[in-house]
Amino acid sequence: MADSRIKLLEEKIRTYPDFPKPGILFRDIFSVLADPRSFQVMIKLLEEKIQSLCPNVDVVMGLESRGFLLAAPLALALSKPLVPMRKKGKLPGKTKQVSYTLEYSTDTFEAQVDGIKPDQTVVIVDDLLATGGTMKAACDLVTSMGGKVALCIVVIELSDLKGCEEITAPFQSIVKY
Ligand code: AMP
Repeated sequence: MADSRIKLLEEKIRTYPDFPKPGILFRDIFSVLADPRSFQVMIKLLEEKIQSLCPNVDVVMGLESRGFLLAAPLALALSKPLVPMRKKGKLPGKTKQVSYTLEYSTDTFEAQVDGIKPDQTVVIVDDLLATGGTMKAACDLVTSMGGKVALCIVVIELSDLKGCEEITAPFQSIVKY
């Protein structure tokens, strides 16, 4: 049963060579969102994994920007608060920041401080794990706010890049390339 649902997602995820720059194989989940049945299946698969691994999680964190599209329906399905992690300068009010280094640059992410209370457990949601830098930054941000990362979950994992080795929290993906 689960296999046929994963197969459906694999068929729907479109791959664009050399986007946004030469050498990158872009895996696009918008083609899944464009098909309501596949969108439902994708959210259901993520929800089932969260329910089985951390049913009492306190907060759903979505990562800018495609992570928001998954975290929002998941937060509703689980009846949990949604907290966004965004690039610096886009969130009003008091925020907590974390900087991380990519191959050639440094980026800063932030979240609103009242989004996560001390000792709350958090599931972090994104569309895709590549090098793991973004997910690691999100884990560091949650920890710096006093939260505990119960689970990191993505739809797509680029296994060759070994990004999951960057993450010390439990990690799950649905489709691996
Ligand atoms: P990373 O920090 O290297 O794990 O990159 C993960 C983030 O970059 C995710 O938020 C993805 O949306 C985006 N990303 C990285 N590589 C790809 C790719 N090949 N296709 C689509 N999105 C990607």
